[in-house]
Amino acid sequence: MNLEQLQEAFPHPVGPLRILVVDDQPVNIRALYEVFRGRFEVLMATSGEQAISLCREQRPDIILLDVVMPGLSGHEVCRRLKASPGTRDIPVIFVTSQNEEAEEALGFEIGAVDFITKPINPVIVLARVRTHLALKLQSDLLRSFAMIDGLTKVANRRKFDETLALSWRACQREGRPLSLVLLDLDYFKQYNDRYGHQKGDHCLMAVAGALGHGLRRPHDLLARYGGEEFVCILPGTDSQGAIQCAEVMREAVKALQIEHQDSAAGPFVSISLGIATQIPGADTSPEALLAQADRQLYQAKRKGRNRACFIDLAAGRDAGK
Ligand code: GH3
Ligand code: MG
Ligand code: MG
Repeated sequence: MNLEQLQEAFPHPVGPLRILVVDDQPVNIRALYEVFRGRFEVLMATSGEQAISLCREQRPDIILLDVVMPGLSGHEVCRRLKASPGTRDIPVIFVTSQNEEAEEALGFEIGAVDFITKPINPVIVLARVRTHLALKLQSDLLRSFAMIDGLTKVANRRKFDETLALSWRACQREGRPLSLVLLDLDYFKQYNDRYGHQKGDHCLMAVAGALGHGLRRPHDLLARYGGEEFVCILPGTDSQGAIQCAEVMREAVKALQIEHQDSAAGPFVSISLGIATQIPGADTSPEALLAQADRQLYQAKRKGRNRACFIDLAAGRDAGK
């Protein structure tokens, strides 16, 4: 697959590819800019320090890095980028005026993927950059597929586990609440029994699509927890906010109007939801919060399904809805 086909293969839209060009000499940046202009988005830095902060903030897709610079050298910049989980996967190509084998060997040792020598040849530079961008996209794609549920195309359990650990730590640092919404289709065994497993699968896909309407913030996550259960992580969301999200999701599933004659909550497919909210602390755990959400889900089922129940451990109150 070429670069353009790879970009289209992603389950989510990817914006224009971004190249960071780092060189203390503006004239060298200019030369590379001319090669990439109109093809990619070009970010520029004239020092190692600036390059590192740009990488952290903007996550470019590839870096063309000058080796000899005052202050942080290219080699040092590369070492630091490779030592940090957030920037480790950005490919680095060194741009160097010397054509010395020892320097190239060192560059590869500290994690570069390739070398380009100055003065640059535009055709060669472009070909090499396209090759390494394609490799980068392939590994991004592989990583993203490993985190997606094949049937419903939402995040899978592995992604959920990873994100929950990260969101928990972030909310703990910031002293903000974290809400979990666990939800389950009502009488789904009967749905499969009456309409068949294949229709059951289609129903799960449609429900997953509808659930997306409940999530508004970039850090919210919807995942398939297993079978016909889904879960949402809502960082920085208090119980009132989580209840709102749950209501939007419950309404969105109802609005699909998927016929379910054997549901006591029917005649359409519906969901029950359990919500738990807490400010993460040393004496609590993500697993315990999830268990609380599960308990609320059980309550929602017991009270007749097609509803949400919540517990607010941040405020010490709980109630059914
Ligand atoms: P409740 O309202 O209490 O949740 O009842 P239920 O029938 O939904 O609950 P139960 O856990 O007994 O049944 C879940 C069913 O979901 C069983 C299984 O056949 C079905 N299911 C789980 N995963 C899939 C799937 O990937 N595809 C299909 N078609 N069905 C699935
Ligand atoms: Mg169920
Ligand atoms: Mg279930």
